[in-house]
Amino acid sequence: MSFLESSHIETSLKIIERWHVCDYCLGRQFAWLGTGTTNRERGRSIKLALLMIADEELKKGDSEKGRELVTLLSSKGMFAPARLLAQESGLDVPEEGNCVLCSVQGASVFDKVPSIAEDILRAAQGIEFDTFLVGSVPPAVLVDKQDELGAEHSLMHSETLKSHFNRELGKAAQPLLQRTVDFERPDVVFVYDMEKQRLSLQVNPVFIYGRYRKLKRGIPQSRWDCSACRGRGCKECNGTGRRYPDSISEYIGEPTQRLLEGSRFKVHAAGREDVDVLMLGEGRPFVVEISEPRIRKPDLEKIRKAVNRHARRKVEIGELALVTRGHLQRLKSEASVNIKEYMALIEVGREVTDADIGTLEREFTGIEIEQRTPHRVAHRRSDLLRKKRVYHVRAKKRKKNIIEASLRVQGGTYVKELISGDEGRTKPSVSEKLETPCKCIQLDVTAIYASKE
Ligand SMILES: [Zn+2]
Ligand SMILES: [Zn+2]
Repeated sequence: MSFLESSHIETSLKIIERWHVCDYCLGRQFAWLGTGTTNRERGRSIKLALLMIADEELKKGDSEKGRELVTLLSSKGMFAPARLLAQESGLDVPEEGNCVLCSVQGASVFDKVPSIAEDILRAAQGIEFDTFLVGSVPPAVLVDKQDELGAEHSLMHSETLKSHFNRELGKAAQPLLQRTVDFERPDVVFVYDMEKQRLSLQVNPVFIYGRYRKLKRGIPQSRWDCSACRGRGCKECNGTGRRYPDSISEYIGEPTQRLLEGSRFKVHAAGREDVDVLMLGEGRPFVVEISEPRIRKPDLEKIRKAVNRHARRKVEIGELALVTRGHLQRLKSEASVNIKEYMALIEVGREVTDADIGTLEREFTGIEIEQRTPHRVAHRRSDLLRKKRVYHVRAKKRKKNIIEASLRVQGGTYVKELISGDEGRTKPSVSEKLETPCKCIQLDVTAIYASKE
């Protein structure tokens, strides 16, 4: 069988003629050949096949070739059975060296696997998780060496040191941790830095979905720093560093972070209402993200109660559910296509007539409006022209010059500007249709629906 020439056996011989290579690392060069075995076994098998060839030569008598090969296998080949055979054959046994492909400070990273696995077990103490993954950072010098070797010998079936090492470490850690390996969404990731010989633990965040109601005006969605001092504290903010003393995000995040024993929180919401606008009805969907939680299977009802206690009837949250990071994306993308209902008090520039009510309900049913970015947010948003749907408006006269209107509109509609017209930046507007300046003096979100479009 002539194809046996220039096979991986011959390639292996060329490799160990140049460099010290251990069983793990030799086998790794042929990782995708054969199955149901390990790289270490591949490496041992090749070296054993070579040793058998050498021994056959020795047994033929005084063979120079046999002696050379046994000496090579026991030195750069790093092969224990070859050392034994060399000793028995009365050959000089060279000093042992270090594998050029996996040694850090004179020791193979593979030999350290059992003790790193013990470190992993220690690092995991007191942290709640069901799934894990191990990772590693190999030194650049070892990565370069592997690349050099691969290029020189046209190795088509080799694996990286990193993925090989991660698998070995994962196999060693799994029975100690008694948890499942998860490549997609592990609860925790253990990362071993080979160069620094240091293990670090990355605890992935927990995401909890809920809906909040805002029952008091004057609360921003997220912490709002004093613009004069940018949070450092100054005369203008009485040293608090803040423009508003509280926020919805803090009411939700603080108790949640505490109960999950996390390091940080972030509240993501499906859109936002202005500081002076209430959020009523079923509430606005949000996801609270807790970084580095020690608890990841919390009592959700306990969190709900803690948040509501913390928020003292200013903000209120409903039932909570554990979700994945994917939910966060959905929350953001849904926000602009949601349908929202508002209750607005409109101050009209003159006395309200029955005809006005009729005009409003007729003109704002099933239409599309055009809104340029409002003046009041133009400093932080780019000037765009948006088309938004207004589904319907129901109105009634509340006082001589006040209309109470319920508006059903597409998510992302600027309702205050839909009323005022924002100096012509929103068209049409209530001001335009009633032919007098109109102003929104109070606004509540009364419902948010998922869009069916
Ligand atoms: Zn090695
Ligand atoms: Zn300040």
